[in-house]
Amino acid sequence: MYRTNNCGELTLKNVGNQVTLSGWVQKTRALGGMTFVDLRDRYGITQLVFNIESDAALCERANKLGREFVVQVKGQVAERTSKNLNIPTGEIEIIVGELNVLSESETPPFIIENETDGNEELRLKYRYLDIRRPKMRDTLITRAKINKAVREYLDDKSFIEIETPNLIKSTPEGARDFLVPSRLQHGSFYALPQSPQILKQLLMVAGMDRYYQIVRCFRDEDFRGDRQPEFTQVDCEMSFVHQDDIFETFGGMIKHVFKKVLNYELPELPRLRYDDAMRLYGSDKPDLRFDCKIVELNEVLPQSEFGVFNSAIANGGIVAGLNAKGCAAYSRKQTDELTEFVKASHRGLSGLVNIKFNEDGTVKSSIDKFFNETQLREIGQAFNAQKGDLLLLAADKTWKVRKSLGDLRLELAKRNNWIDANAWSVLWIVDFPLFEKDEESGNITFAHHPFCSPHPEDMQYFDTDPTKVRAQTYDMVMNGNEILSGSIRIHQKDTQERVFQRLGFDAEERDKRFGFMLNAFKYGAPPHGGCAFGLDRIVMLMTGGETIRDVIAYPKTAGGRDLMMDAPTPVDEKALKEVGISILGQ
Ligand code: ASP
Repeated sequence: MYRTNNCGELTLKNVGNQVTLSGWVQKTRALGGMTFVDLRDRYGITQLVFNIESDAALCERANKLGREFVVQVKGQVAERTSKNLNIPTGEIEIIVGELNVLSESETPPFIIENETDGNEELRLKYRYLDIRRPKMRDTLITRAKINKAVREYLDDKSFIEIETPNLIKSTPEGARDFLVPSRLQHGSFYALPQSPQILKQLLMVAGMDRYYQIVRCFRDEDFRGDRQPEFTQVDCEMSFVHQDDIFETFGGMIKHVFKKVLNYELPELPRLRYDDAMRLYGSDKPDLRFDCKIVELNEVLPQSEFGVFNSAIANGGIVAGLNAKGCAAYSRKQTDELTEFVKASHRGLSGLVNIKFNEDGTVKSSIDKFFNETQLREIGQAFNAQKGDLLLLAADKTWKVRKSLGDLRLELAKRNNWIDANAWSVLWIVDFPLFEKDEESGNITFAHHPFCSPHPEDMQYFDTDPTKVRAQTYDMVMNGNEILSGSIRIHQKDTQERVFQRLGFDAEERDKRFGFMLNAFKYGAPPHGGCAFGLDRIVMLMTGGETIRDVIAYPKTAGGRDLMMDAPTPVDEKALKEVGISILGQ
């Protein structure tokens, strides 16, 4: 028997017991004839003691143990004289009578503790060592608890877990497909699923009624932000439902997960319309842990000669701003930094106007030349500005102003610590548009995926003004992160065909790519809808991780590499030949 107990469970209750433990040597210290070893496993740390007086040879062997050696010890549980009340096993130690080294270890490349000297690259290369750190271990354990709570909840609501294949045909979610060459049919490729979207819809046609799957999805995207080429979704679909049924079911699910895993009662999830989210927060994933809304001024702006404001409005754009509460004392340097922030190329504003409502009651602005004090106070009223407040205003195309002020709002929150780290903001965003216009090409594309049902009352705009059509699409947003997307689906063949047509697929391409789906809709498709949670992101938020790499056992780097296995790598000529591929330029 390798062990009678684990390293996290022995306490004063066990004093006098003969036990066997196995684990890793966390550290060894020799102190005046005694050697102490911290023995670690997944469950905790237990102190071992070797006494030179009782067994000099054994103590000598203990002194030679290196960090991360795997050992087995037999001994007796004893009460410690100097106790460590910070850990459950801190009141006892094991007086060791027998020591077996099960395997030795080279000196590890970084310190295996929460505070480590290993940078992320090194930790990814030696991920199996990184996972020995309590923080990583606890994250993976919490992740498993979240999965369990999800399964419990959905099972209780009659959902059935059904596995779908990974070698399939393209399921468009707006990213590039990963392709797998076929050995048996040279020149043909499988696509890895960007999601099981079509397959789950066909399970509804198949009458399964309620499906879910904790499933890996693959998207060959450029590494914008915090993304992974493969990631996990809790993918769900239900038949005979309206949006409200979805909100109730999956709002309930996230509340259940929070209660089970964090023992936290999330309140009922509020709903915010997409248009309002964009107008008030400049984002379709607003962080509502703090207020600071965007205020549009087109209607209330006093007349002036200020060209920047006037031309923005004349060109159909907006003048809008934020009230940075309590920031009137910002220095020139600080306001300049904020101006640079909104001028960054991906935001692209040309500047930022500031109006300070000073503590001494005076008002000072960067547009004093164009607006007198009464007018500035009038603008201030739109923000309910008080003494001590700083208004930051921008003028340009509507989407640009909204995006920049949305980002600026988050930046101000960061600089001013407006966000309570223990607060949660979880809400639904509803009424997304069905289509988006590509700014460059002017082409219409789908906003979520091509299977979302339009709002029936907006069908009047479908042919004439398609970007005006709202979809029955929704997101769940947690602390400013999108953690779920979904929609009520199209279940009529003709509507689905109209959408494909609007997206520019001709009949031939449509049938080649989606004929099987349209065909299925000929045989009685129930009204249905569903959603998918981004599990990695939820785990990240619930464990306080900074990136989703922190919550995935074996993630890829930002450049898409697996540093531990060293992938991707070239394959040999023979393997390529078998799948009928030759590499360009070779
Ligand atoms: N398949 C969608 C996605 O991956 C989710 C859904 O609409 O259910 O975002």
